[in-house]
Parts: sequence; structure tokens; C-alpha cells
Amino acid sequence: MVRYGSAVLAALLALLVRLALSPLLPADGAPYITFVLATALSAGYGGLGPGLVTTFCGTLLVEYVVRPYDGLVPFVDSGNVVRFVLICVVISYVCRVLIRTGERAKAAELSEREGRLFSQQTLAAIGDGVISTDSAANVRFLNPLAQRLTGFSVPEARGKPLQQVFITEANQVIARDGSRVPVEYHQEPIKDSAGRTVGAVLVIHDITKRLADEERVREANRVYRTVGEFMPFGVWICDPAGRNTYASDSFLQLVGITQEQCSEFGWSDVLHPDEREAAVTAWKECVRTGGNWDREHRFLGVDGQYHPVLARGMPVRDNDGTLLCWAGINLDIRRIKDTEAALLRQTSDLARSNRELEQFAYVASHDLQEPLRMVNAYTQLLLRDSGDKLSGQSHEYAVFIRQGVDKMVRLIEDLLAFSRVVHGDAERVPVESGAALDQALSSCAQILLDSGADVKSEQLPRVIAQEGPLVLVFQNLITNAVKYRRPDVAPRIQITSRREPGDAVFLVQDNGIGFDPAYAQTIFGLFKRLHGKEYPGTGLGLAICQRIVERYGGQMWADSKPGAGSTFSFRLPLA
Ligand code: ADP
Repeated sequence: MVRYGSAVLAALLALLVRLALSPLLPADGAPYITFVLATALSAGYGGLGPGLVTTFCGTLLVEYVVRPYDGLVPFVDSGNVVRFVLICVVISYVCRVLIRTGERAKAAELSEREGRLFSQQTLAAIGDGVISTDSAANVRFLNPLAQRLTGFSVPEARGKPLQQVFITEANQVIARDGSRVPVEYHQEPIKDSAGRTVGAVLVIHDITKRLADEERVREANRVYRTVGEFMPFGVWICDPAGRNTYASDSFLQLVGITQEQCSEFGWSDVLHPDEREAAVTAWKECVRTGGNWDREHRFLGVDGQYHPVLARGMPVRDNDGTLLCWAGINLDIRRIKDTEAALLRQTSDLARSNRELEQFAYVASHDLQEPLRMVNAYTQLLLRDSGDKLSGQSHEYAVFIRQGVDKMVRLIEDLLAFSRVVHGDAERVPVESGAALDQALSSCAQILLDSGADVKSEQLPRVIAQEGPLVLVFQNLITNAVKYRRPDVAPRIQITSRREPGDAVFLVQDNGIGFDPAYAQTIFGLFKRLHGKEYPGTGLGLAICQRIVERYGGQMWADSKPGAGSTFSFRLPLA
């Protein structure tokens, strides 16, 4: 738009100049002169179009303004008009061609400059060093990285033979200051459009980081392989399809197969035949679902023995969750298995010997009762019939015999009670523990009365047990509370309970002599006693109580302090 406006303006200016020159020129002299100039300027500035516009405007202005102004008639001299138009068209065309050529040259120069800038920046930004040479292998250009690697700037290197600038030894480039950098490099010829080699370009790749990374990976590999080899029977890796790609030498040596055999599912060939099918099916399923692998199985060793192994593994995934591989361990669990088997053997031996012991205790106590009863009866008869005839010492002996027999009777009765608890049926039924306590108290009524005991109890809950054994527990604890009372202090016994989730906890508390809490566990053992002969007993009462409570899924324990009374507690399931 501006170009065409300028074209019109040029024609008007030409008119003004022509009119101003009019007095100096002859009447019909050169009416177009200023317009030719204007057309040349207009076409030179704007090209063909504006040139033609100025020509057109000029023709009209000359014919309708200049000629009448000079006193001439318009369009009389048509030859002049045609010449003017032709000259102006030629000028405009020539200007157009010149402008186009100039524009093209400018564009070509710009694009070349841009291209040069672009390749310079690309070469500068590229992560590799680049050196270009001419056909005689003399350096022409180095990018910044190549300058750093060689220690040469472009002006220093330009024109020098390549081997003086780029010096290498054992895959390392040696810079001017002697520093070395590990590199990889390759050279490509540069060809012109006719295919002639006009130079070469050398691309140098700094591999320092890659070598460090490779070393780190090698180190990590060494570490985990060492761990794998150290741990019987090492580590294993499988590809995402479940095929073994690595197994520690310790495993391969154990089973006597090679890594290649192992990769072909060979590990299943050395599985115990009883476990092979299940293990392979489980492994395929594990690979399908991407879950963890956790299995025990036996591998046939080259020693001809089966080795129990705990195999554990898990899928290894990248940040996007894509499965990379499976990694796991084969742990030799022979010792654990042997210990487990030995423990099982011992437990069953122990259980058997316990059963035999209990059987023996039952039989012995039962069979001992008869001769003991006889000794008791005849001692009593002896004392009754001949007591006054016996000498003082013989009478004393007979009394000792009776006391011994009494003690033995109690011991045997307790042993029998213990055996009954151990052998008896442990049917679990709801029991009113309050009623069981009442029964126990009434069977202890005499000793409670004799000792002046003060017994307090509260309402007790229904529990799961059996009434008879529960009465026995209360009975034992109450008689102990009376037996182990402090001299000259009337026994005070309190029986309470509290509820805990699903259970009732009973507490039998006394104000007796107490005991050292270090023995709080010991006193539940068979024949375990803390006090001397002044307190008669067999050391079986608490053992019986604990066995009874445990038969119904409960527990029993004790708290005490010497001289400060004791609390015996037991827990039973609530009904
Ligand atoms: P024993 O027939 O000796 O009483 P137990 O098994 O009933 O046997 O008790 C084991 C030991 O625990 C007792 O010998 C005594 O030393 C201690 N003991 C039991 N109950 C009490 C108590 N209420 N106060 C202090 N000591 C006790």
C-alpha cells in the first residue's frame, strides 16, 4: 500500500517540479522529463507495479495538466506518449529484475549466515567433540568440546596437521597440558556436490562417565555375586518370562548343572519328583500374576542327596511399573529342617515319657495305697491294743510310724489328684464360679473356723470349666492362705474377680507370710516348696491348680512379698 501511495506521490512531485521548470523550458519541450525520473525512483523503490502506477499517473498529469499549462492541446503528440510509456515500462521492468536479484542475494546471504550460526551453535551444544579438516588433513575448525579435549583454540589449531592437534594413546586423548581423557572417536569424509572428498570430520566421544558407570555396575555386580556365592545356595535372576538368566555358582555346583541348562528350566529337573509338578505350576502362576515367590522345596545335589531350600524372590520393576526381572535367593535350610525334625522327635519323646511318668505315678500311687492302708491299720491296732505295754521309746517309734504313714497318705492322695487332673476328661461347660467357691468354703469350714479366718468374697461370674476341678482350685488356694498365715495374725482372705475381654480373672488374696517374688513361677512346679517342715505339705497343690486352669484354656500366676501377703490369680474364659 505504502509503495503504491509513494508511486502516486512521486508522480505529483514530478508534476510540481515540471511546472516549476516550465518557464525555463521551450513551450513543448520535454513535458515527460521529470516523470521519467519519478517512474525510475518509484520502480527502484517499489518495483514494477508502483513504476507502472507512476507511469500511468504521469501520462495523465502531462497530458491534462502540463500540456494545457504550457498552452498545448492534450494527446496531440501521441508518439511522445507511446515513447514515454515504453521507456517507463522498460525502466520499471529493469528495476523489478534488479530488486528481485538484490532480494534473492540478501536472502541467500541471510540464510547462509543463519545456517553458519545454526551449525556453530549445534556443534557447540553437541555432547561430542568435533574437528573438521581439509583434504590435506589440516585442521579447519574445532568445536568447544574438542578445544577442551585437545587444549587448542580454533586460531591455534587452524592449518595444523590433525595428528599434531588430536593426539591419542590407548583410547585416550592427550591434551596440550598432558591431561588425558578416555574417548571413542570416528572420522567421516566431507564430500562436495560432485562427490569429491574435500575434507573430513572427526567426532570424539568422551567416555569418562560411561566408564565410571560401567565400573559402578561391575562393582555392584561383584558385591551381589559375592553375597550370592557366600550365602548357600546363592541368588537367582529370571527374565520377565520366568526363564532363569543367572544362578550363583554355589547353586549350579550343588546341583551339577550349567547356567545354560538352568536357563532351559533345568532347575525343575533337579527338584524332588514329589514337588516338581507343583513347583513348576506355582512358578508359572507366579510369573503370570507378578506376585512374590516363597516356597520350600528340595533340590537333588550332585552328592545324591536332596537339599531342602527356601526359595524366595520378587519381581523387580522400573519406575513405570514394567517388569524387568525376578530376583531371589535360595537359602539352605538343612540345619533348620534337621533342628525342626530333632525338636519334633524330642517333643514326641518328651510327651511319651511324660505319659509314661504320669501312668507310673498313677499306678504307683494307686498300688501303694493298699500296703499303706495295712501299715496304718496295724499301727493303729498296735497302739490301741498294746500301747500301754510298749516302752516309752517304742511308743514314740510307733507314733512316728503313724505320722510318716499320714504324710505318705496325703502325698499319695495328692499324686492321685494330680493324675486325675492330667488324665481326666476336660469337657468345657459353663460353671457358676460363685457356687464352686461356696462348695470349697464349706469343705474348708473347719480349718477356717479353727484359724479364726475372715473370708470375704463378691459375686463371681459364670465361666467355662468344670465344677469339681474349679472347687479344687479354690479349696487349695484357701487352705494355703490359712496354712501360710502369719503367727498370731488371723488370716484375712479376699476372693474377687474382674472382667477382661472374653475372660474372667479371679484373685485370691491373703495377709499371710508371703514369699520372695523371684519364686513366683517356681512354686507351680511339681513338689516345689518354699517353706520348711513347720508348714506340712506335698508341694503338689499349686501344680494341680495350674494344670486345672490350663486345661480350660486359662493361666495362673502369683504375686507376693515376704511378710506382706500373697495374691494368687487365674484367668478362665467367660461363659
Ligand atoms: P504345699 O503342699 O507345700 O502347700 P503348694 O503347691 O500348695 O504345696 O504350694 C507350693 C509352695 O508355695 C508352698 O510350699 C509355699 O512355700 C508356697 N505357697 C503356696 N501358697 C502360699 C501362700 N498363700 N502364702 C505363702 N506361700 C505360699
